[in-house]
Amino acid sequence: MGRYLITGGAGYIGSHMVLALCDRGDECVVFDNLQQGHAEAVPAAARLIVGDLADGAAVDEVVGAGPWDAVFHFASLSLVGESMRRPFDYLMINGMNGIRLIDACVRHKVPKFVLSSTANLFSIPDEIPIPENATIRPGSPYGESKHILENALIWADRIHGFRSARIRYFNAAGADPKGRAGEDHHPETHLIPLAIDAALGLAPPLVVFGDDYATRDGTCIRDYVHVADVADAHLRAIGQINDSSAVYNLGNGEGHSVFDVIRAVEAVSGLKVPRSIGERRAGDPAALVASSAKLRTETGWRPRYADLETIVATAFQWRKGHLKGYAG
Ligand code: UDP
Repeated sequence: MGRYLITGGAGYIGSHMVLALCDRGDECVVFDNLQQGHAEAVPAAARLIVGDLADGAAVDEVVGAGPWDAVFHFASLSLVGESMRRPFDYLMINGMNGIRLIDACVRHKVPKFVLSSTANLFSIPDEIPIPENATIRPGSPYGESKHILENALIWADRIHGFRSARIRYFNAAGADPKGRAGEDHHPETHLIPLAIDAALGLAPPLVVFGDDYATRDGTCIRDYVHVADVADAHLRAIGQINDSSAVYNLGNGEGHSVFDVIRAVEAVSGLKVPRSIGERRAGDPAALVASSAKLRTETGWRPRYADLETIVATAFQWRKGHLKGYAG
């Protein structure tokens, strides 16, 4: 049994990570400011500490209350579009808070650290699927903030021998297949929950952000990975960083367009997704699809929920049972 600290563990991806750890019988401590996270998303088996990574004393206290087998860092502002409007919030909050956490982990000799990084490092990819050594060109201040943290981890390793895995992913999607957690953002900006809510009449018609991209149907292509598969990738990555740090791109390897997602929601729900075509959203690259070849080869990771309709079905199930999200 291991003992893990998960920042942002009450958030969407973090809570699925906590479930994966608790399911193995590991001990989990969640550190979350509950700005976007939900106390209800933290399973009873885990301990929730409500605190902010901006609070250096709180960070020092929680990290110092080890020993930890690893620290997983999910807590972050995470919206590409919002970061184009509030660049310095993203650079300061994600950048400074993340570096504060890494510094505390180095001082308290945490043996392993996993950073939830992003595919937004690769705004104009030279090749698709995108390998780990592709040229980094952050597509937004959000992507830039994760680039800053990746670099901090590289320095932490070079200077202190601090071991980390940086995992860049694309569109985490879906919900716990057992229905224990799901996606509940306020406001919601992500495609799959918005399309589901539009179908259920819980949200206005979906606006498709541009249908004039140079893609097969004109809409943006993204790599939707089931959130439980994302959590599994994090678990496998920590097994890989005993002697050296690692970086992995994580994706299904298959891209789906906005129209593909709409079709999947309609197939799964039996409902129509009301929609209109709108302007492009600032910061959106046309296509992002990851190569997971390195992760697959080195860790044996395989997506268990690879199919888009299966991913959407888990999201739809959760939403149907939580029409008001966690609050309901
Ligand atoms: N998208 C859209 N309408 C929406 C929300 C998203 O057309 O209301 C598109 C967006 O342009 C992108 C894809 O759906 O191509 C996925 O966006 P999302 O915000 O879910 O994730 P991101 O790729 O930004 O991380």
